[in-house]
Amino acid sequence: MLRAAMTTQYHDTACILSTGDEVTLGQIVDANAAWLADALTSAGVLPVEQATVPDDAEVIGQTIRRLAQRAPLIVMSGGLGPTDADLTRPAMATLAGEELVVDDEAMAALTELLGRRGRVVTDRQARQATRPASARCLPNPFGTAPGLHVRLPAGRTGAPWDADVFCLPGPPRELQPMFRDCVLPSLRLDPALATRTRLLHVLAVPESDVAARLAHLTRRQDVGEAPLLAMTASGGILTLRARIRTSAGESAAAAALDTMEREIRSVLGHHVMPGHAQVGTRGESALASCVVQQLRQSGRSLSVAESCTGGMIGGLVTSISGSSASFVGGVITYSNELKARLLGVSQSDLATHGAVSEPVARAMAIGAIKLTGASDALSVTGIAGPDGGSQVKPVGTVFLGHARREDSGEVRSAVRQCLVTGDRHDVRQRAAISALSMLYFAQAMGFEESRAVRLNWQVGT
Ligand code: ATP
Ligand code: MG
Repeated sequence: MLRAAMTTQYHDTACILSTGDEVTLGQIVDANAAWLADALTSAGVLPVEQATVPDDAEVIGQTIRRLAQRAPLIVMSGGLGPTDADLTRPAMATLAGEELVVDDEAMAALTELLGRRGRVVTDRQARQATRPASARCLPNPFGTAPGLHVRLPAGRTGAPWDADVFCLPGPPRELQPMFRDCVLPSLRLDPALATRTRLLHVLAVPESDVAARLAHLTRRQDVGEAPLLAMTASGGILTLRARIRTSAGESAAAAALDTMEREIRSVLGHHVMPGHAQVGTRGESALASCVVQQLRQSGRSLSVAESCTGGMIGGLVTSISGSSASFVGGVITYSNELKARLLGVSQSDLATHGAVSEPVARAMAIGAIKLTGASDALSVTGIAGPDGGSQVKPVGTVFLGHARREDSGEVRSAVRQCLVTGDRHDVRQRAAISALSMLYFAQAMGFEESRAVRLNWQVGT
């Protein structure tokens, strides 16, 4: 009893272990580790290390012993199936110093599942219904391989605590529900510690500027129980992550994040997108979703005229459910001929300035309004590369247009010139995001006011 009390530890921290040659050889991306890290974080457990090992029982065992010394909780994925490369069960038995025994319930479930498919349990299949003698099988409603919960005593690993190891199957659609149903309810969380995370998306401010302007919030020393602020950039959209772990309780944690968010919004203004970002939602999807909401609220409608982005803006907007209320459609005008014929771009502008130019971007946006009857249109024309650049218009040169028909009938238009960095994919994606940003700022601040906002990669004013 006393020994158990000394070696039982709250699951404050965790390690994540992914197994499988397919992961270590780079054949698949380790989606489980990222998902588990987020799920643990949301549950208030801090992931402190991720490890990836091949299908090798010896290496799996060594790694678990090492990870057990890092954290009292290990969540691992893969290697529970019936093949010879599935070595998690024997590795756990060796670690625990126990025999593998048949789990009657797991065997009954496996027999029933295979029976429904008109199959019998072969010896190979039966391996999946075994567990180290003291372990517990975790039912798998979506596959044949049950999971395992093994409690490894401190003496077996050299760790200062007994470690809980949860072994889950590799396929994400099996792993995720089993984490929710079997791991979450088994976590021992310190009731006195509250952990909360809040994510905010920031548009059109370089990372270094944000770091400088929020330096008073990102300083890592002396944080004590104040939220810790960090940022990551992707495709020109920054994600700020504020995280707090405090003994002051749930409402104090939420209040501290509210205070920090207010401060961030007061410093960065409209550059911070409204609402809170969700983990796993990419910045561009969040931006598209925000723009769709703005359009719905203002009763405006959107169309697009895309050249080098080839429909990516339309793709981003239509990926949002409910976009049909505001998005009318548009055209992909890749050739000069189609720019002229569908959008009314003048032959003389095309000849004098070239297809990648300010007047053409403007004419495309205005043309899209006329063609579709939408109140707003975004246009993109640029050089995505790697070929086609010149001294005057290097690869990455992109003109973004926004035209708007006011209720009075007056048509306004704005064009931004950008020099977008990256390969062909980056240029196209960043151009699409920048075009949506242009609309976002016009909606958030007003068309005229938004002209002062400098987009990422924008050149000139
Ligand atoms: P099964 O009974 O399905 O074989 P298993 O526990 O034995 O389950 P693995 O054989 O290791 O799991 O992996 C099965 C499949 O699950 C892999 O081929 C892969 O598609 C997916 N998978 C495994 N590990 C990961 C991972 N870390 N991230 C994403 N997918 C994964
Ligand atoms: Mg397998």
